[in-house]
Amino acid sequence: MEEEISWAKLVEHEPKLKDLYEEARSIKPEPGEVYCANFTWYSPEGRNMKKRMMKLVGIMRSGGPGILRTSEAYDLAYKKIYNALPACRGCGCLDL
Ligand SMILES: [Zn+2]
Repeated sequence: MEEEISWAKLVEHEPKLKDLYEEARSIKPEPGEVYCANFTWYSPEGRNMKKRMMKLVGIMRSGGPGILRTSEAYDLAYKKIYNALPACRGCGCLDL
């Protein structure tokens, strides 16, 4: 009864996840530019990508296929999209 979760399956049910992933991949900081993946991901002044993802997948999603409304789906999408962001550079995160 439990459907096995994969990125391909999540995207099939919710194509906007792919858009978010492509957006993350498309970010290309200029050489020497300070860039913070966490700011991009978490901050409303950044791209607020985590919040936008939460509307698409995980327990905060309302409606749609059940497979999208699981914490497993959330974890998978989180890793996939967050890891597609460029690494932090010069922002101070790595010093923490
Ligand atoms: Zn950072």
